[in-house]
Amino acid sequence: MAHDVVVIGAGAAGLSAALVLGRARRRVAVVDTGEPRNAPAAHMQGFLSRDGMPPAELLAAGRAEAAGCGVEFVPARVDRVDPGFTVRLSGGAALRARRVLVATGLRDELPALPGVAERWGRDVLHCPYCHGYEVRDQPLGVLGGRPGAAEQALLLRQWSGDVVLIPYAPDRPGGPARDGGPADGAGLTGGERERLAARGVRVADGEAARLVTAPDGRLRGVRLTDGRLIPRAAVFVRPRMVPLDGLLTGLGCVRDGNGLVTTDASGRTGVPGVWAAGNVVNPRAQVITAAGAGSAAAIALNHDLVDEDTALALEAHRAA
Ligand SMILES: Cc1cc2nc3c(=O)[nH]c(=O)nc-3n(C[C@H](O)[C@H](O)[C@H](O)COP(=O)(O)OP(=O)(O)OC[C@H]3O[C@@H](n4cnc5c(N)ncnc54)[C@H](O)[C@@H]3O)c2cc1C
Repeated sequence: MAHDVVVIGAGAAGLSAALVLGRARRRVAVVDTGEPRNAPAAHMQGFLSRDGMPPAELLAAGRAEAAGCGVEFVPARVDRVDPGFTVRLSGGAALRARRVLVATGLRDELPALPGVAERWGRDVLHCPYCHGYEVRDQPLGVLGGRPGAAEQALLLRQWSGDVVLIPYAPDRPGGPARDGGPADGAGLTGGERERLAARGVRVADGEAARLVTAPDGRLRGVRLTDGRLIPRAAVFVRPRMVPLDGLLTGLGCVRDGNGLVTTDASGRTGVPGVWAAGNVVNPRAQVITAAGAGSAAAIALNHDLVDEDTALALEAHRAA
């Protein structure tokens, strides 16, 4: 028998949807590879009533709650979804579903600076709203090069009076900078330099070569190509966020000009029966936002199924 809904991805978005659908007495399966985006972080911040909880604990609690309402969990990768829907798992098994909800998240592509990948989620960070409070008033670095680095440095100034933007050549795009002006050797426009100076954010007069860690593994600072060390307690970077939306586009969902699959406010895509929630369609979503989007999608999905159940019942009723 087909599941009412197969949810793909058991992060905050998928689990929240599964819980709501399980409580709506739907037959639900959640397929997941167990690689949530925030897994490298020891703590999850900013989730009302759960501030500081380890990310895995939130997910374990969510799984237990959903399982308590009859939701099934399948540890597997979904390779493809065929219209109708057949959800094809790696290894050859398949699940039939009336509807699918894709909550597969995104992939963070990090700058190639040596040391960044090793310290990612610990003292190499990206989101001041997630981690800024924990490093408040400490010496902070912002890795330059990628678009938006100056804005990130200005934002971080809210958390610390000691912020240094450190240029990083390999990531520097060609062409004009974000505010339209010509960029200097460090990739900054005159306007950006002025705004940074006005807020007391320094710009290092050199290029980042690698991160330096202490014997206990913690970050010591950023080594420049000329050998100098800029001591920093944490460095913020701007990952390229790549939505894991291949299952959606494979079903015919279209991306907008920003490269994101379009949905309505409930997460309904342009393909009937296909919903999406969380980072896969909204890279800015925090854990709490992803959970909210999953819940909203589940409610809309259940209404859609109620409409179909009613139409089928009416047909049978009239035939009888
Ligand atoms: C280092 C770091 C720290 C962060 N800290 C915070 C924080 O403190 N507070 C905060 O609010 N936000 C934080 N975030 C953001 C947070 O990670 C996201 O908001 C959240 O993970 C989005 O949830 P999601 O359900 O959309 O995706 P995810 O949590 O990434 O879940 C997606 C799930 O889908 C699964 N999956 C993917 N593809 C498939 C497939 N083909 N088949 C089966 N399963 C699949 C994955 O294994 C994963 O379990 C942080 C992010 C990072 C990178």
